[in-house]
Amino acid sequence: MDLLNGFNSIDAGVVRESAERFGTPHYLYDERMIAETCEMLISMPHAYGLDVRYAMKANSTKALLKVIRGLGLKIDASSLNEVRRAHISGFDYGDIMLTSQEAPEKDDIAALREMLSLGLKYNVCSLKQLRNIGDYAAASKKSLGVRIHPGVGSGETATRNTGDKYSCFGIHLSDLRHVFEYANDKGIVFDHVHVHIGSGGDPAVWQSNIDLELGIVEKHFPDAVSVSFGGGLRVARMPDESAADVQALGLYAKDRIEKFYGRTGRKLRMEVEPGTFVMANAGFVVTSVVDKKKTGDDGFNFLILDGGMEVNARPLLYASRHPFYVISKDGRLLSSEFRLKSGGSGNGGDGGGYRAVLVGRCCESGDSQCLDSDGLSVPREMAEPELGDYIAIGGAGAYCSAMSPHNYNSFVQAPEVLYTCDSELKEIRVRQTLEHMIANER
Ligand SMILES: *Cc1c(COP(=O)(O)O)cnc(C)c1O
Repeated sequence: MDLLNGFNSIDAGVVRESAERFGTPHYLYDERMIAETCEMLISMPHAYGLDVRYAMKANSTKALLKVIRGLGLKIDASSLNEVRRAHISGFDYGDIMLTSQEAPEKDDIAALREMLSLGLKYNVCSLKQLRNIGDYAAASKKSLGVRIHPGVGSGETATRNTGDKYSCFGIHLSDLRHVFEYANDKGIVFDHVHVHIGSGGDPAVWQSNIDLELGIVEKHFPDAVSVSFGGGLRVARMPDESAADVQALGLYAKDRIEKFYGRTGRKLRMEVEPGTFVMANAGFVVTSVVDKKKTGDDGFNFLILDGGMEVNARPLLYASRHPFYVISKDGRLLSSEFRLKSGGSGNGGDGGGYRAVLVGRCCESGDSQCLDSDGLSVPREMAEPELGDYIAIGGAGAYCSAMSPHNYNSFVQAPEVLYTCDSELKEIRVRQTLEHMIANER
């Protein structure tokens, strides 16, 4: 089997079959890869218990949530609607923790109380959130969690750092005294402390956050029984990128939590909340080459695909690079990002000097899969496809389908397909229709 990359079990023939059955563009996910990643996370070293919560905003499609639930993960939800979607997918409220920027009003406060009464865990992320729910928590003796803003963070880009002064997630350390004044007055107990410093940042910063956070727990949170180190575990999408070493991070956390026990006599349960790490490399966007153009002698080859920024906005948002796989109409892998002539992997052979920029069909010069951080397209090496050949864009399982500006230029939301552990292709979300797109207009 010509595996598309080192990580997954989908090959070029599967991509072609999926494209023929479900049309392009679509998202294609590999269940086996999701399972392997989840098993790796669940077997992370820990001291006194571990919960792995899937940060469902990375990809919230019901069938995927069911797969992830079956693998023993719990849920990190970012909004009340995410809590509802997780519950609809089969998660008990007791397995869901809500960590949100939403500051509920009126009906939403009532809904939140109802969910809390059914077991939802709530991490307050602002003083307003605490005051919204304080009387209820005190009266019903529900303990709460607190998300702390530690003042330092790390992310793949500035906009993915959630822990420094340029972002406002959680309650800043300098505001904690207001939290305690309020909580002591009402008799509210905090049993959980949470920090999430960013997405795809430096694993060394992630590690140092563990020390910072345990210090905060020791100093300020005598009732905490669990501590969340957040998500943000870095993945490698491209051959020259390196992933976080989950085993090593787990060993580090285990050691620190054991030392914490040595100092305090308190056994803390540990939580992590990866989204990207669970899904990113298990997903592809499958597209067809619909047109070719050139921009003159000093310009570039352009390949126009039937899916661009509206199926994967990450290059535009973060200048992220995703691996490309060129696949012929009859299902042969013509080039893989992981074995290019110029590639660093050492086993190159594909490409042969052809370079192109992959763009979508939107009237937007940023609709390119090859953007650098200045927003300029940089051509990439690959085999030259013919019109009608397929290009699969890898690393597209997280923050693609869930975060796409679909319906821009009135393109419909793409369908999603799961390649199951039994090697079956199952459509898990159908293609949106034009009627669906305009259904709410009056
Ligand atoms: C987004 C988010 C995560 C997951 O981040 P990834 O980079 O996808 O792992 C975890 N926790 C919280 C609170 C988040 O907002």
